[in-house]
Amino acid sequence: MVTYSAATPQQFFDTLPQETDVVIIGGGVIGICTAYYLAKKGVKVTVCEKGRVAGEQSSRNWGWVRQQGRDAAELPIAIESNRLWREITEEIGEDLGFRQHGVYYLAESDEDVQAHEAFMKLAREHQLDTRLLTAGEILEQIPGKPGRWRSGMVTPSDGRAEPWVVVPAIARAAQRMGVKVVENCAVRTVEITNGAVTGVVTEQGAVKANRILLAGGAWSSLFAANLGLGIPQLNVRATVAATEAVPDIFSGNAADSNFAFRRREDGGYTVAVTDIHNHYLGKDSFKYLFTWLPTYKVTMGDVTLNPLQPKGFPDAFGTKRSWSGSEISPFEQMRVLNPEPNRKAIEQMEKRLPDRFPQLAGTKLKETWAGMIDSMPDMVPVMDEVSKVKGFFIATGFSGHGFGFGPGAGRVLADMMEGRETGYNMSRFRFARFSKNEKLELGPFI
Ligand SMILES: Cc1cc2nc3c(=O)[nH]c(=O)nc-3n(C[C@H](O)[C@H](O)[C@H](O)COP(=O)(O)OP(=O)(O)OC[C@H]3O[C@@H](n4cnc5c(N)ncnc54)[C@H](O)[C@@H]3O)c2cc1C
Repeated sequence: MVTYSAATPQQFFDTLPQETDVVIIGGGVIGICTAYYLAKKGVKVTVCEKGRVAGEQSSRNWGWVRQQGRDAAELPIAIESNRLWREITEEIGEDLGFRQHGVYYLAESDEDVQAHEAFMKLAREHQLDTRLLTAGEILEQIPGKPGRWRSGMVTPSDGRAEPWVVVPAIARAAQRMGVKVVENCAVRTVEITNGAVTGVVTEQGAVKANRILLAGGAWSSLFAANLGLGIPQLNVRATVAATEAVPDIFSGNAADSNFAFRRREDGGYTVAVTDIHNHYLGKDSFKYLFTWLPTYKVTMGDVTLNPLQPKGFPDAFGTKRSWSGSEISPFEQMRVLNPEPNRKAIEQMEKRLPDRFPQLAGTKLKETWAGMIDSMPDMVPVMDEVSKVKGFFIATGFSGHGFGFGPGAGRVLADMMEGRETGYNMSRFRFARFSKNEKLELGPFI
């Protein structure tokens, strides 16, 4: 079962404490992994999740764990994350479905070939096992229709994990180290005294803490705006499907210009189209129009603008924009953001699967779902302490590639929140980069 809704049974029943060291807002992969690495250092942590742990993006994604194709500043953290996936699987003692069967990018155009060659340079600098593949080598490993892919690139140490299994399992391990995980607990606002955080107000009561992490995924911008902080984050709907069980013709993870597929632990494939996404227009679409224009020019062929957001969505015109700690907030009014899958995307999946793999003609899709990707205009996240609010940290905008990055980001954020060196140059992830005078540098778009 992949698709979560408010009806998905509650799994975490901790009681909200009155005081803790750190409060984490959001029980997705980022919030839960940060809690895990803080707990390993003996820090007292409470994770408040408005709905279900991993109910939103963190259970709905393709599950790819990739270093390949990363932005230069993300790559070293993605490499550490890859190592941490192996380590965390051993530490927890549960099968997270982490399998290193490689991530393949399949080229169909000159542009794809050039992009692969450009990444090879970065891969060599970091001694990654990435290599280019000829059309013949691809067909040996991925028995698709001959002539479809002219070349490719693979990083064999990349892999995947099963998203809906991973985050609850890490959350249980964090609980065993003392982390409180509280579901049905929307954080309404943050309390700030003399420019420093002193705690949060939740729907279940107040909690004192001197460090807070906002890891709210698609809701972060709305939450921050209520505190007077602008995050130019916009949400994009992406649709995914799982096939019924079929013979194992390829056990890795691959994408070409408009189709992605990967083997699943249940014997099927997770499939998706990469050129059909939706952005529902909301107030922030207009507020951040100029910041987003360069990105929109690159992605416009793949993203359709839809006139109105469904009721209750984070940036819908009717969604409340300001509230106090004593008022019901938009977060408790939508426990789980559960967008309808896009029918056109599903139709295309049904066509493109047998087009790539004639031997799988007739395969049925057993489940379809969608998720809202929290995107930043430069496609890299914010991971930073807000300079004007001491103790308030933001980790959001993972732009469609935060799942594989989760353990690495969690380790880095835990050290950042404890005032330790992260080991990396974090300037690319600064919150202040959206100030008016700074020109944004666009990262890769996959
Ligand atoms: C279709 C799809 C495919 C993807 N494929 C991949 C992939 O293959 N590999 C990859 O690396 N990444 C992928 N991603 C991206 C990845 O899923 C995300 O980057 C990652 O899950 C983000 O994690 P998160 O913890 O930041 O956010 P989320 O998982 O969205 O979690 C945020 C949580 O915060 C909670 N919350 C929000 N506001 C509040 C509040 N006020 N109080 C309490 N709780 C609150 C929400 O309920 C939510 O559970 C994909 C995403 C989608 C949608």
